Amino acid sequence: MEIVRAHSMGFCFGVRDAIEIVRDLGASGTTVYTLGAIVHNPQIAEELDKINVHVVDGIDEVPVGSIIAITAHGSPPDLQSKAEARGLKVIDTTCPLVTRIQKSAYDLVQQRYSVLVYGDANHKEVKGIVGWSGGKARVIRSMQDLEGWEPTRRVALISQSTSNVEKFIALSRDLVGDMVARGVEVRIINTICKPTKDRQLAVRELAQDVDIVIAIGGEASANTRKLVQAAKEEGTRAYQVERPSDLHSDWFEDVDRIGITAGASTPDSVIDDVEARIRSFGALQPALA
Ligand code: SF4
Repeated sequence: MEIVRAHSMGFCFGVRDAIEIVRDLGASGTTVYTLGAIVHNPQIAEELDKINVHVVDGIDEVPVGSIIAITAHGSPPDLQSKAEARGLKVIDTTCPLVTRIQKSAYDLVQQRYSVLVYGDANHKEVKGIVGWSGGKARVIRSMQDLEGWEPTRRVALISQSTSNVEKFIALSRDLVGDMVARGVEVRIINTICKPTKDRQLAVRELAQDVDIVIAIGGEASANTRKLVQAAKEEGTRAYQVERPSDLHSDWFEDVDRIGITAGASTPDSVIDDVEARIRSFGALQPALA
């Protein structure tokens, strides 16, 4: 067996920068509360918790006078004022590429577009984007979600930063066709971030060259799930694992080449640990794709 790593994988700059900000604060002895997990990776969450960087679900859980950090996924615009009204100090680690999507949502509403967001309505980033649209954006996964919906004169489609590129392209095509047929002005803004595009492209190339793809990332990591999906769309068997113990040796029976990729919130140490366990099943030294 041979192990091949995707040429683009693992930590993105947005997640890395957000972790560094709260890690530096925690290491300096300052307690920080993060609004939701700063990263969908249990190993890092445990490490941060030990240096007093704690995850909370809402600002009400944070002691008055404390520091609260908005994660790289961003938040609705009123969150900062609500936190400050409660006597909290807010640190904003929103990824600049998410800020760009929030700004698009805001600007499009000002320009009287009906805004559609391709993404997961329950994801924190998408909730923030909808918040920046003043609650006016409609979240969709497919054209079926628009059944019975009457568009206004102008419609714009944007995307969650980590969406599946191919699916966004397909949806954009269908939306343009439908809106043009109805005489509606339509605008598509591709807001899928570059690290996501690079990782999805890399895993597709990888999947064509291996027998199985292992995507490493936290169970809650949406972008890791999409890497699995992209590999499967190339016709290759693919699994998501969070840690080495999630691997099953029988996955690798009769397998010659194993591809490895990792989500935007997966640290190198976890990738190395997973790779070492795969190698213990009989794989040879790693090679680059
Ligand atoms: S996945 Fe993209 S948008 Fe999200 S934090 Fe990373 S770089 Fe930023």
